[in-house]
Amino acid sequence: MFNANGNFDLLKNNYLFQTIEEKVVKYQNENPDADIIKLGIGDVTRPLPKAVQKAMHEAVDDMGYDDTFEGYPPNTGYVFLKEAIFKNEYEPLGINLDLDEIFISDGAKSDTANFTDLFGGGNIIALTDPVYPVYFDSNVFAGNAGKISPDGEFSKIRLLPCLSENNFLPQLPYRKVDIIYLCSPNNPTGIAMTYDELKIWVKYALKHNSIILFDAAYERYITCDNIPHSIYEIEGSKQCAIEFRSFSKTAGFTGVRCAYSIVPKALRVHIREGGVMSLNKMWNRRHATKFNGVSYIIQKGALACYSDEGKKQIMENISYYLNNAAAIREYFESMEYEIYGGINSPYVWLKTPEEMSSWHFFDYLLSEFQIVGTPGEGFGKCGEGFFRLTGFGTHEKTQEAIKRLKKQNIGT
Ligand code: PLP
Repeated sequence: MFNANGNFDLLKNNYLFQTIEEKVVKYQNENPDADIIKLGIGDVTRPLPKAVQKAMHEAVDDMGYDDTFEGYPPNTGYVFLKEAIFKNEYEPLGINLDLDEIFISDGAKSDTANFTDLFGGGNIIALTDPVYPVYFDSNVFAGNAGKISPDGEFSKIRLLPCLSENNFLPQLPYRKVDIIYLCSPNNPTGIAMTYDELKIWVKYALKHNSIILFDAAYERYITCDNIPHSIYEIEGSKQCAIEFRSFSKTAGFTGVRCAYSIVPKALRVHIREGGVMSLNKMWNRRHATKFNGVSYIIQKGALACYSDEGKKQIMENISYYLNNAAAIREYFESMEYEIYGGINSPYVWLKTPEEMSSWHFFDYLLSEFQIVGTPGEGFGKCGEGFFRLTGFGTHEKTQEAIKRLKKQNIGT
């Protein structure tokens, strides 16, 4: 008899955004004339930068001729893209990397989830609460989460509460943890860690032989000087940290798919059986076995993000989303909501009014204003009572949403 992976049974039935979509579809069916504005899911609305579009067209042409045709791409990415990433993303920060420390992939979502392939048994995993759900679910799938208690807590996952009194930043765990997921600028809270805040975690990881999985998918949204763009700006981090980056929110690649991870060769981990292993070699091996690389056309598109035109067009799009986030933030501030994020991030995180539960606030916004956001509870227990809105909508829809809220005078 086929025996399925029972770990799937330990998870909530639906991925958060599936549940939201189902609710929205139901509402739309019941109210066919409703003009619903989606400020919930983290998908972009601006089209690809023209420089990227042009480069991809040219790459399609390359594929049609004998002398420029490309078959399987290199598993870990073309050198042309790795060089551009190094020269544009890391060298200016004073970070040195070998090209074989850069791994091109089809998404930071898959990278963060697939990295669980490299974990042995018995690790204690620290996740922030609220958290980007992929870190949690992928560890449960992989059987890394341990036993589940009647109240739904996993024995090998330590949740680090991120609360308003700590500006939604995780505090160091009391008991030792082996794997630490950090996301900065953060999804969902929009909060970014400063140099000093990140240093504390690097110091902790070095002291306890832990590793940090640092998700910097929103790095390009950083506007303040005291926020590191890469964890490798922190001394010692190459011995303990992996970094994930993506072209999705930077260059509108959510539908194109291209990202990369940095796995330093200096990061060497002990295995329980004795001996030392290089995570760089392991990730390389995993890529070679399970991944046949990102297509030439897509990698040429990603390369164009680093042309002068591409850079300019990307920054225009980032400003566009940040302006939307600022407008959302300003409106709720003017209504005296407790509000976070939206400065170094496209995400605005707000406290729901009158102790409303976050799903109740979701229903309220949908039914009264036809606006869709994301209930904080969907990102973890500590997200209860909070709500995420994003600057990823179009400028017109974002303004229209604010107009509707102003007109009916949303409560505080
Ligand atoms: N990491 C975080 C924190 C995200 O919020 C997202 C997307 O919403 C991703 C990764 C996914 O990135 P990609 O589109 O490269 O898979």
